Amino acid sequence: MIYLDNNATTRIDSRVREAMLPFLGAEFANPSSPYSFARRATLAISRARGQVAALVGASPEEIHFASGGTEANNAALNHLLTTGETNTLALSAVEHASVRSFATHREKTGALLNWVNVNEHGALENADGPSAPLAMMWANNETGVIFPVVDFAGGRRIHSDAVQAAGKTPLNLATSGVETAAISAHKIHGPKGVGALFVRKGTKFEPYLIGGDQENGIRAGTENVAGIVGFGIAAELAVENLEKMQSEIRGLRDEMETRLLENISGSIITGRESPRIPNTSMLLIPGCETEALLALLDMEGICVSSGSACASGAHEPSHVLRAMGLPVANHATIRVSLSRFSTHDEIEALAVALPRAVRKLRNG
Ligand code: PLP
Repeated sequence: MIYLDNNATTRIDSRVREAMLPFLGAEFANPSSPYSFARRATLAISRARGQVAALVGASPEEIHFASGGTEANNAALNHLLTTGETNTLALSAVEHASVRSFATHREKTGALLNWVNVNEHGALENADGPSAPLAMMWANNETGVIFPVVDFAGGRRIHSDAVQAAGKTPLNLATSGVETAAISAHKIHGPKGVGALFVRKGTKFEPYLIGGDQENGIRAGTENVAGIVGFGIAAELAVENLEKMQSEIRGLRDEMETRLLENISGSIITGRESPRIPNTSMLLIPGCETEALLALLDMEGICVSSGSACASGAHEPSHVLRAMGLPVANHATIRVSLSRFSTHDEIEALAVALPRAVRKLRNG
C-alpha cells in the first residue's frame, strides 16, 4: 500500500505505541485518585503537557487535553460566542467542518456569522472590518495554504485551528496573539481521539464540557491517559522532525508536483503561489471525475483523497475550492498529503499511476 493521505490521518509511530502500552495495561489508575499508584499517571500527563507545549510554543499551563481537534474547535468557538459582547463570530469561508458546522449550528440559536472570503490563492481577504472574534485556521487541510493569523491577531480575539499546521510549520502560540488554538494527535503520528486546546494565560475561559475539575477546570472528564502519553511522544518526535518536513518532505512534494504538472495536461495545483505547509498538494484535473480517479488509484494500492467531505460515496464539490473561486465543475480534485515516512519510491509510483489513470479516463 502507498499511503499518501496524511492530512486525513497518520500511522502511529512505533515509539508512540510503546510509550502508550503501560497505560493500557498495569498503569490503569485514574489520575485524580489520591494514592501514589495514580501519581504515576498524573506525572505522565504532566510530562506530555510539556511535550505538547514545546511543539506549539506555549507554556504547559496553556495546554488542555481534549478528545481531538473537533472538540477543541467546538469548545473554543463556544467560548468566543459566550464571552463576546455581541454573539457574533467572524470566520473564514474555508474552515474545517468542526468550525463551520459548529458556527452554523449556533446560528440557529441566534449567533451572527460574518464570513471572511479567501482569494484564488487561498489568502484571506477583508478579515478586518467589524472586530468580532475571528476563527481563522492556521493551515488549510485541503490546500495546505497557511493563513496570516499573526497579522490579524493584534487587538482582535482569534481562535486558530492549528490541527494541520502543528508539526509541519513552526508555531509559536505564545507570541502569535491568538486567544485559543486547537491541535490533534492523530495528524502527527499519535493516536486518534486525543487533542489539545491552547488557552492563552489570563483568559477567563468558559468551559464547554462541564463536570469534574480536570484540566484546570477547562475540560471536564477523566483523562485519556494512554492517548495523552502517546500525544506527548508524538509531539516530541514532531519537533525533532520539523526540519525534515520543511526541507526533505517539501522537496519530495515539490518534485511530485513538477512531475504531475508536466504529465497531466491542464492540471492546476491550488494555492501553489501562497505559503503552504510542506506536505500537501491539491490538484485540479480537468476532464475527469474524482470518484473514478480515486478508484483507479485504489486498485493500484494508492491511498489519496479528494480532500472534500465525502458523504455516502458522493463527493460534494469542495467548499474550500468553491470559496477560492476555482473551477471545480468538470474537474477532479485530488489531494496528496505526505508524512515524514513518505519516500521517493512512493512519489514515483504516484507520478506514474496518476497520469496513466487520467489518460485512461480521458480516452473513455
Ligand atoms: N481541523 C482540521 C483542519 C482537520 O484537518 C481536522 C481533521 O481532519 C480536524 C480539525 C478535526 O480533528 P479531529 O479528527 O482530531 O477531531
